[in-house]
Amino acid sequence: MYAFNYHRAETLDQAQDLLAHYDDPKILAGGHTLLPTMKQRLANPSDLVDIAAISALKDIQHVGSMLSIGALETHAHVATSPIVQQAIPGLAALAGQIGDPHVRNRGTLGGSIANNDPAADYPAACLALSALIHTTRRHIKAQDFFIDLFETALEEHEIITRVEFPVPETSAYAKFPNPASRYALVGVYVAKTRNGVDVAVTGAGPVVFLATDLAEALTRSFMPGALDGVSINPEQLNDDLHASAAYRAHLIGIMTRQAVTTALARV
Ligand SMILES: Cc1cc2nc3c(=O)[nH]c(=O)nc-3n(C[C@H](O)[C@H](O)[C@H](O)COP(=O)(O)OP(=O)(O)OC[C@H]3O[C@@H](n4cnc5c(N)ncnc54)[C@H](O)[C@@H]3O)c2cc1C
Repeated sequence: MYAFNYHRAETLDQAQDLLAHYDDPKILAGGHTLLPTMKQRLANPSDLVDIAAISALKDIQHVGSMLSIGALETHAHVATSPIVQQAIPGLAALAGQIGDPHVRNRGTLGGSIANNDPAADYPAACLALSALIHTTRRHIKAQDFFIDLFETALEEHEIITRVEFPVPETSAYAKFPNPASRYALVGVYVAKTRNGVDVAVTGAGPVVFLATDLAEALTRSFMPGALDGVSINPEQLNDDLHASAAYRAHLIGIMTRQAVTTALARV
């Protein structure tokens, strides 16, 4: 690990001042991606601005048709929150499938989506549920947020403050985890609202994406059988030592059927 300076911010204003003040600072939340990256000398920030003590970023609220989750909420807290379990059980279940207990107790919603790992779980929920990502500067629709592999719409030193999820009629996430890393080899989030169905896929491509053919079939009939005959084109999918593109395409169909079955059981 390269040498760096550590700063602990108590408020959002303090965090923004610290980020503006140093040469090459980085925001530190749960540290479960950033610190391993630094240990491997793949990142060399001059300063770390630790936001973990900012209480304004730890809040879960269900108001009207919106579930709002603070950026610093850990995966474990989202998984076990009665508010999340009641409003969007599919989201609570997704958080409970991330990594292992250690990762879930430290990793945060904001850190996960800021990192935008192509196999991370939360991006699929954000996209399928049409979440709104609030930052210190603006709010960004999920469909405009996840740009490419590890790339988001965030600007330099912009801090995610919370994510707002419209509460769907029902939803579910089905994940085929890589047995070694527990990241998604393929993960599919299905959300049904009164406007139709959205299907978002993580792990299969370079960035999370909406599977529109699957969504259209499920909007016509929200049953696993509605997917019979709908094929997934493997051309743009990842093809690596973990799985071929054709295998991932096949898994997308299987995971989508599983998610629909679970979502139907929640109605
Ligand atoms: C062994 C292991 C297994 C894992 N398995 C999974 C898995 O199955 N599924 C999954 O989805 N993830 C998995 N993860 C990743 C885990 O969920 C991380 O916690 C998450 O990706 C990063 O969150 P963090 O709070 O630790 O962020 P950090 O590591 O602190 O930060 C990550 C990046 O986000 C930036 N950042 C952090 N917070 C903010 C914010 N509020 N605003 C703007 N930028 C911010 C940081 O500057 C940094 O660039 C795993 C990690 C490990 C180590």
